Amino acid sequence: MSSKKYVYLFEEGRADMKNLLGGKGANLAEMTNIGLPVPPGMIITTEACKEFYVNDRRFPPGMEEQVREKIRVLEEKTGKRFGDPANPLLVSVRSGAPVSMPGMMDTVLNLGLNDETVEGLGRAADRRFAFDCYRRFLNMFGDVVLGIEHAKFERILERYKERRGVALDQELPAEDLEQVVAEYRALIERETGQPFPQDPMEQLFMAIYAVFNSWNNDRAIVYRRINKIPDDLGTAVNIQVMVFGNLGDDCGTGVAFTRDPATGARELYGEYLINAQGEDVVAGIRTPRPISDLKVEMPAVYQQFASICERLEKHYRNMQDIEFTIERSRLYILQTRTGKRTAQAAVKIAVDMVHEGLISKEEAIMRVEPAQLDQLLHRRIDPRGSVKVIAKGLPASPGAASGKVVFDADEAEVLGNQGEKVILVRTETTPDDIHGIVAAQGVLTSRGGMTSHAAVVARGMGKPCVCGCEAIRIDYEAGEFRVNDLVVKKEDVISIDGSTGQVILGEVPLIDPELSPEFLELLQWADEIRTLGVRANADTPEDAAKARAFGAEGIGLTRTEHMFMAPDRLPIVQDMILATTTQERQDALDKLLPMQQGDFYGILKAMEGLPVTIRLLDPPLHEFLPNAEELAVEITRLRLTGGDEEELRKKEELLKKVRVLAEFNPMLGHRGCRLGITFPEVYAMQARAIFQATVQLVKEGVKVFPEVEIPLVGEVRELALLRQLVDEVAEQVMKETGVEFEYSVGTMIEIPRAALLADEIAREADFFSFGTNDLTQTTFGFSRDDAEGKFLHEYVEKKILPENPFIVLDQAGVGKLMKMCVALGRQTKPDLVIGICGEHGGEPSSIEFCHRIGLNYVSCSPFRVPIARLAAAQARVKNC
Ligand code: ADP
Ligand code: MG
Ligand code: MG
Repeated sequence: MSSKKYVYLFEEGRADMKNLLGGKGANLAEMTNIGLPVPPGMIITTEACKEFYVNDRRFPPGMEEQVREKIRVLEEKTGKRFGDPANPLLVSVRSGAPVSMPGMMDTVLNLGLNDETVEGLGRAADRRFAFDCYRRFLNMFGDVVLGIEHAKFERILERYKERRGVALDQELPAEDLEQVVAEYRALIERETGQPFPQDPMEQLFMAIYAVFNSWNNDRAIVYRRINKIPDDLGTAVNIQVMVFGNLGDDCGTGVAFTRDPATGARELYGEYLINAQGEDVVAGIRTPRPISDLKVEMPAVYQQFASICERLEKHYRNMQDIEFTIERSRLYILQTRTGKRTAQAAVKIAVDMVHEGLISKEEAIMRVEPAQLDQLLHRRIDPRGSVKVIAKGLPASPGAASGKVVFDADEAEVLGNQGEKVILVRTETTPDDIHGIVAAQGVLTSRGGMTSHAAVVARGMGKPCVCGCEAIRIDYEAGEFRVNDLVVKKEDVISIDGSTGQVILGEVPLIDPELSPEFLELLQWADEIRTLGVRANADTPEDAAKARAFGAEGIGLTRTEHMFMAPDRLPIVQDMILATTTQERQDALDKLLPMQQGDFYGILKAMEGLPVTIRLLDPPLHEFLPNAEELAVEITRLRLTGGDEEELRKKEELLKKVRVLAEFNPMLGHRGCRLGITFPEVYAMQARAIFQATVQLVKEGVKVFPEVEIPLVGEVRELALLRQLVDEVAEQVMKETGVEFEYSVGTMIEIPRAALLADEIAREADFFSFGTNDLTQTTFGFSRDDAEGKFLHEYVEKKILPENPFIVLDQAGVGKLMKMCVALGRQTKPDLVIGICGEHGGEPSSIEFCHRIGLNYVSCSPFRVPIARLAAAQARVKNC
C-alpha cells in the first residue's frame, strides 16, 4: 500500500499551498519555481504534523521513508552525501506554520555534522570554519532538540574567549573551537545520559520530531491564544541544503526589506554581515552594516540581489522581507515573506503600488489595517528622543501629551484658561471632573480600567489617557504623587503616552499626526468606493470642525448633557431640578435657553450644509446633583462646627432632593424620553434653542439641517407625544420669526422593544439611529460598568462570548434586532434614514455589519472618522 504524500520537494510546491506547506515552505517552493537561486530542499506537510498528534506523537506511516527518498534526491542534486566523511551534505531544519508564529521552534543549522564529517568539511573548505559550524550545530541541536539550556553552551564558549582575551567568536582559532566542540559533546552526554547522536539520519528525525513537538509548546500555545490562531493548523518542517556565509570575506548573510518598513520609502532597507552564518545578523553580536554598503563591497552581488528583490515584489505584488546568504560571492535566497510595516509605511506602500500599476485601488484599500491608522491620528512621542519612564499604566486613549501636574479639575480649568498645559492626575474621574478634562492635555489615573470614566471620556475627546496606573500613589492633601521613592509635586511637568501607557518625567518632544499626501489620497479612494456614510459624534463646535476636517459627512450624535455640566451652567441646571414651582423651573430654563442656543448655533454652523443630529436630554437628573454621601458628610461637619444656618438649611434641602431623585437602577430609570414626558418644558426649551439657532443661521444665509432626536423610546406613543411637542415649538418659532426652516425628528433605537415595533415607531420618525451601547445593555440585560468590572472578561476567556460586545458589536443577538428593525422600519418608510452612533460605529467589524444590513451611515468619534471611512470602503470591497 502506498502511503499519503507527506513530503514535497521545493519544486513540487507553490505559494498558494500555505495551508499544507506552511508559509515559509510555500514561498521557498514558489521562489524555486520562478528560477531564483534557492538551495534545494524539501517540506514535510502540516498534514504529517496533524497525524503525528492523532498518533500519540508518532510519525505517520510512510513519512520516514519519503524523507529518506528525498534526501537521496538532494544528494544527487548537490553531489554530496549525508554522512559522507569526504563530502558531507548538511541541511537546515526549520519550522514553518501556515501563519507566522514566532513562538515555535528555533532553526537548527548545519545538521549532518559529526566527528567524521567535520573532518571532511575541514578538508574540503577550511578547518576553522568546519569546527565553527560543528560547535554552532551542537549548540543549536543541544538547546532546541535536546532541551539543554543555551547558557550552558554560552558559558563554555565565554571561557575560551576570555582565555584568548578576544571579544568575538570568529577570533577563536581552530584549536580552540575543536576543544569547544569536545566540551559541548561532553556537556550533551552529561545532560542527556546519551552520547551525541552521530548518525545524520537519526539527527534529522530527532529534529523533525522536535519541530512537530514545538507546535504544542507553551510559547506557541500562548501565542496562538493571543492572536486567535486555530490550534489545529499544524506546522510544516523545512529541510534545506546548507549554504555558508561564514567561509571567509567573500561570504556573508543578511536580511532586507524591499521598501523601508518604517516610512514606506521605495528603497532597499536592510543589513548584512560579512563572514557570518544564519542568525548572527539579528543576534547583535557584531554590528551589521547597512545594505547600501554591499553596493560598494560586492557590486555584482548587490545588483543581482536588487533585481531579485524587484522581481519578488512584482511577483507577490507586495513589500517583501527577504533573507539571503552569500557563499563565495554566490547569492542564495533563503526566505521571503510579506514584510511587516508601520501604519505610515502601510499607507505609503499601498498608494505607491497603485501608482506603479502593481495593485488596484481596491487592493490598496484592503492592504491597510483600519485599526492601525490610530497610530497616525494622534500626537506621539518623537521616537528619536530619549525619555525617562517612571511608571506604566493602561494605554487607555492614544496620543501623547506633556503638562504640569494638577490634582483637581477646577485647578486644571483655571490653569488651562491661562494657557498653561496641564495633565489632570486623579485616582479616578467622575462626571464632575469633565471641565478639568476639557482643559487638560491629558489624563492620568491610578485606578480604573480601559472603560473607566476617564478612559471613555478621554477617548471621546481624542485626548491621551493613561489609567489604572497603580504604581503611582496620589496624596491630594500634600499635592503630590509618589512612584517608589520619587516624588512628583503639583505643577511638576510630566508626559503621558496613551498609546503605550507610559508615564514620563519632564517634557518630551512630540510630533504631530501625519496626514501625509498618501494618506489623504487613500482616504479619497475609500470615499469613492464606499456606499456607507460616515458621520461623527461631537458635542462642541471645535469637535465638529475637527470631525469635518477628518472627512465627516455630518454629526450623528450631539449629546446635550455635557453642555449642562459646564461649571457656569451646572448651578442653573441644579436650580431647574430643585425648583418647587413651575415658575421657578421656567426661570431656570429661561436662563439656559440662550446658552443652549449658543451651543447649537456653533455646532450647526461648523457643519454648514451637513446634517446634525441633536439628542435631547438623556441621563437621569440626579447625575447633575452632588453625591449624597459627600453632602451628608458636609452637613454633619456644618452641624458640628456650628456653621452658617442658612447654608446648612440649603444643604439639607438639597440632600432631601438628591435622595428623592435617587434610583434603584438609574440605567433603567427616569431618563431619556421619560424625562421629556414628565418635564416637557425641558425638552421644549431644548427644541426652542435648536430652532432659534437654526433661524439665526438661516438669516445669515447658512444652510443647516438639524435633526432632533428623542432618546430611549420603546413605544410609539412616547415618540408621538414628544414629536408633537417639538413640532409645536418649531411652528411657534417660525411664526415668531417669520423664517421657514427644514428640520426632522427621529429617535434612537436603544431598547429592544423599539426594534421589535420599528414598523409602528417609523410612522412617527423621520430617522432612526442605533444607540448600540444601551441596546447592548438592554439586549443582554448587562449593565456595562458592572459587566466589564466583574464578569465579562471571564465570559471572553471561557469563550462564552467571542468578544466584549460593548466594543465589538454582537452581530448574533444585538445585530439580529438591528436587522429586524431596519426591515420593519423600511416596511413603513422605504426611505427611512438609519444610522448608528456610539463606539461600535468606529469599530471595523461592526462597520462591516452595518454596511451589510443597509444602514445609511455610521457615526463615531472625530478621531476615528478616517478609520471608519477606510473600514466602510473595505466592507464594500468585501461584500460587493
Ligand atoms: P526565522 O524564522 O527566525 O527567520 P529561519 O528558519 O528563517 O528562522 O532561519 C534562521 C536563520 O538561519 C536565518 O538567518 C536563515 O537565513 C538561516 N538559514 C536557514 N536555512 C539555511 C540554510 N539552508 N543555509 C544557510 N542559512 C540558513
Ligand atoms: Mg527567517
Ligand atoms: Mg443611550
